Amino acid sequence: MTLDAVKPYDDSLVSTVGSHAVVVGAGMAGLLTARVLADAFEAVTLIERDPLSPEHAVRDGVPQGRHAHGMLEAGRATLESLFPGYTRAVRDAGGVMVDMATEFDYYYRGESLADGSDELPTLCASRPLFEQIVRQRVLCLDEVSVRSGCTFTEYLIDDDRTTVRGIRLSGEDGDREELTADLVVDATGRASRTPRWLERQGYRPPEVEEVTIDLAYSTVLVERSPEHCRACLVGPSPECPRGGASLPAENDQQILTLFGMNGDHPPTTYQEFLEFARSLPAPEFEALLTENELVSEEIHHYPFPSNLWRHYERLDRFPDGLLVTGDAIASFNPIYGQGMSVAALGALHLHHALAAGTRENLAPRFFHRSANTVSDIWRMTVSADFEFPRTEGEKPRGTDLVNWYLDRLMHTAYTDGTVADVFARVHRLEQSPTALLRPSILSRALLPHAVSERLT
Ligand SMILES: Cc1cc2nc3c(=O)[nH]c(=O)nc-3n(C[C@H](O)[C@H](O)[C@H](O)COP(=O)(O)OP(=O)(O)OC[C@H]3O[C@@H](n4cnc5c(N)ncnc54)[C@H](O)[C@@H]3O)c2cc1C
Repeated sequence: MTLDAVKPYDDSLVSTVGSHAVVVGAGMAGLLTARVLADAFEAVTLIERDPLSPEHAVRDGVPQGRHAHGMLEAGRATLESLFPGYTRAVRDAGGVMVDMATEFDYYYRGESLADGSDELPTLCASRPLFEQIVRQRVLCLDEVSVRSGCTFTEYLIDDDRTTVRGIRLSGEDGDREELTADLVVDATGRASRTPRWLERQGYRPPEVEEVTIDLAYSTVLVERSPEHCRACLVGPSPECPRGGASLPAENDQQILTLFGMNGDHPPTTYQEFLEFARSLPAPEFEALLTENELVSEEIHHYPFPSNLWRHYERLDRFPDGLLVTGDAIASFNPIYGQGMSVAALGALHLHHALAAGTRENLAPRFFHRSANTVSDIWRMTVSADFEFPRTEGEKPRGTDLVNWYLDRLMHTAYTDGTVADVFARVHRLEQSPTALLRPSILSRALLPHAVSERLT
């Protein structure tokens, strides 16, 4: 389920369903969850292990924040609906708008796609800036408060083990404390400990689907001239399992991330980083590295072993008073840039689940809704990942056919701006992948050009 299929945010739909909610983890998913819970609870407390500064900076709890983070349109549009003026605020803080049709080069198997005719504005900034503006706006809400420097340690559950009543945490001074709540949301990210805790309470943990890709990122920041507002993404292919992302960010900086799938990892010394950049089909990477000053000598490395999906929607028993969201449910190969947008769509799903006006069965209702979004994205992501010979896991049925068709489609998109546009809208999670199967697109991808022109 992509942006076109999720009903928009409408605060008039939600009324109060409880007095206090606790959200554990103040990353993107936790902040956005707190935003929609503020419509339905008298008070919402965010618990975050990291100290939070008013400046935007990479935090220990979100180390991926050093690497290129693309904000897909589904994410930007949802953030704008939850926080009117969000896009303007990011731009005022130095973020830039890039037109994906004309200022963004997307390389597929060594060649760049045609420019489309539609404008596809894309908001670019660092991940810490995207998050900081969300945090500022969430913490302005009267209902929301944050306890930073506090570590969640466990859930409080009632004697018959059916309902979560709050959490235990270790405060800034190390003191143990209990917080009661009508609802607790786990937004602690991929390392979430809820599955193990469920097992200890006598519940079945969610089934885990894992597709191993053995990916790693290496990233540097370079200075850029204010006029250079271009972005570039080089996708990996089975013949060349490496690629890169170059995104403009605030402070006239460009984020250069190199990555490699199936063990072809990018290096961590400058000379090797430059060599790796030279091996990509896009000249932009080498040019940016050799013609600009590095902001810092340090090269940041991040291994990412696998796509992971915890199937909470398949459980037939789950405690009341508890939800799980964001990367704690599913985390995807980051080269497609979907995680923040999935977190945003997840918040919209929670908003609509709360619109029922009751907390009864909130968890299954929310898990089913959000699984619709996750399953579309899972399918797109792991299908592409199974093109690589050393990817391991359960291959969805029909993957080879999907990949064969996508390859035809992308070859068409080298010269056909209409196909490139539709691909971009699906990639941005604005439109469902079924848009790629519309007769007008099918015919362009599968028939000789002259015939498809006559049919469309
Ligand atoms: C290398 C990399 C690149 C990525 N690139 C993109 C991209 O281009 N575009 C995109 O949209 N997404 C991208 N993502 C994904 C994106 O970062 C996440 O999907 C998104 O931010 C949602 O994460 P989250 O909030 O669920 O979890 P996290 O971001 O992991 O946040 C979890 C929070 O919980 C806190 N926490 C954890 N445990 C505790 C505890 N016990 N007590 C209190 N607090 C706790 C942490 O400190 C942290 O603040 C990328 C991810 C990686 C790894």
